[in-house]
Amino acid sequence: MQLRVDWCGICGTDVEEWLSGPEWIPVDAPHPITGARAPIILGHEFAGRVAAVGDGVAEPQMGQRVAVDTIVFCGTCHWCRRGEVTRCPQLGGLGLHGDGGLAELCNAPARMCLALPDTVADDEAPLVETLAVAVRALRRGMLRPGEQVAVVGAGAVGLMAVQAARAFGAGGVAVVEPIAARRSLACRLGADRAVPADDAAALQADVAVESAGRPDAVATAVRALRPGGRAVLIGLGTRPVSVLPMDLVGAEKSIIGSLSHVWDTDFRIALGLMGRGAVQAAPLVTDRIPITAAVSAGLELLRDEPEKHLKILVRPGGTR
Ligand SMILES: [Zn+2]
Ligand SMILES: [Zn+2]
Repeated sequence: MQLRVDWCGICGTDVEEWLSGPEWIPVDAPHPITGARAPIILGHEFAGRVAAVGDGVAEPQMGQRVAVDTIVFCGTCHWCRRGEVTRCPQLGGLGLHGDGGLAELCNAPARMCLALPDTVADDEAPLVETLAVAVRALRRGMLRPGEQVAVVGAGAVGLMAVQAARAFGAGGVAVVEPIAARRSLACRLGADRAVPADDAAALQADVAVESAGRPDAVATAVRALRPGGRAVLIGLGTRPVSVLPMDLVGAEKSIIGSLSHVWDTDFRIALGLMGRGAVQAAPLVTDRIPITAAVSAGLELLRDEPEKHLKILVRPGGTR
């Protein structure tokens, strides 16, 4: 179906593609599912209204507001048949492997377009994607009610992880974050306490979510765990990290990777959490800009002063 995009968020992945890419965007051969290759329209965090519907599509309907999961997969391989689509060898995403939401109009399969409840505002809806990343991380970390959670890095995903952990019944949520303003925002959104990295070992968390995207944050996440704890990594880091095997083996800690989100589990859960007000998105939006400023007031600011911006939203249709 075709969507008229209301707002599209940008994040570090977009900055990487713009600065040092193509990292994910296919250049030589078209992506096997989307058939697209560079140049590709960025934007993988977006929501909009249905502007055209393909033949035989019953839902969602014309004009309906939807958030877009964006993940494409083959649907027939071993992993897809098990519902573990993030392991599909043909995995891709709109905005990286096919045209995304930084455009007035965007085509997406109907399956990806989940109807938005009225309680989620237009300029909150793109953050369902951000929340879905955090939801998956906590699910991969097998968080059980009553357990302690540490979130390393209170950026947009980290602040979503704080709120999702609360909603999932965590016994306590701590944040490891160097920026004071983010520490206080994390506490406003449900964290019990926020500490600098040096104090991480005192946290004794069952699940630590590494959402800082820096190599040293992995060791911090492991240090924040109690014996038997699980550290979940979200960031697609390309630099080596150093963790002493002894620190893992001695206390039987685990490191778990968590990639993106799955439409019918993580994304749907995220939509439900935001719809019933268990998670707030508005406090995470620091900038709303027209698409004409997407580079100068968007990507450049995320590159030059990332500490000053959480979620930057772009309005592809201008400043309506
Ligand atoms: Zn993103
Ligand atoms: Zn597959």
